[in-house]
Formats: sequence, C-alpha cells, structure tokens
Amino acid sequence: MKIEKNSVVSIDYKLTDEQGIVIDTSEGRQPLTYLHGVGALIPGMENALTGKAVGEKFTVTIQPEEAYGQRDESLLRVIAAEELKDIPDLRVGTQLQADTEAGVKVFTVIKIEGDKVGIDGNHPLAGVTLNFDLDVKEVREATAEEIEHKHVHGPGGHSH
Ligand code: ZN
Repeated sequence: MKIEKNSVVSIDYKLTDEQGIVIDTSEGRQPLTYLHGVGALIPGMENALTGKAVGEKFTVTIQPEEAYGQRDESLLRVIAAEELKDIPDLRVGTQLQADTEAGVKVFTVIKIEGDKVGIDGNHPLAGVTLNFDLDVKEVREATAEEIEHKHVHGPGGHSH
C-alpha cells in the first residue's frame, strides 16, 4: 500500500546538512515508526513520503520553510549570569526553559563571557537546509485507536 493519511510508516533515515555532515540517522537503531499525516514529522518530510511504498529509497532536500523555519535573530539574547546562578553546571550547550511573550521557549547557552551569558531560542536546525536519505521499510493502516490517539501503538510506538 502507498503512504497516505493515517498510514503507520516505518522508515530508515539519514539526515545530513548542506556540507554532508550527518546530523541524525536511524542506522544501528530501530527504524522510525510514526503516524502519517498528523504532523508527527516536519512538513517537508511528510510531503516527500506521501504516495511512496515499501522498498522505495530516495533522497529529498528540504528547505527551512518546510523544516524548522528560518532563524529569528530576536531570539538571540544576552542575560546576566546572575539570573542563572541557580542552574548547576551551566556551560555552552546547556538548555534552559524561559518564559517569553510567545510562551515557554527552550534556549540554548551559546556563549559565557564573564558575567554575561549569550542564549539562543532558535531550534538548532532553524535556517538549515536538510537532506534526508529515506528508505521505506513498512507501511500499514493505523488502527482506529491509533487514529484517535494520533500516535502509533506497539513496536516503535506507545506501549499503553
Ligand atoms: Zn495511544
């Protein structure tokens, strides 16, 4: 069967950036299993997979608009280290949750200099063009319960 809305799909994938550096891969792990058409994956990936069938292997290039969006430079902030004094082991790469005008956002520490800390609220892949090597391993119809829950049950999914 072909992948359509409410298919349960298992894929092997390799994600690389524009320089060919591997960002993420299912190699050495179980394939990624997800419910198609409910926004579980980034839009560019779901669009590329729609209509594909088991055994299809292909590469897709996804622009930031269909992935994690463009970078928003207003999410780069500098704050006083004093404000973060309760956070143990603060270093570059530490992730913090902060309240913003747009709700709770995750910020990543990108620089620590003296009593100032630079933080970035962009998704690490914002502004990045993504290349996915995809290999469709399994496609089945979702059960009524999976559709109701909007996620996959059983292997690779929820176990409740
Ligand atoms: Zn469930």
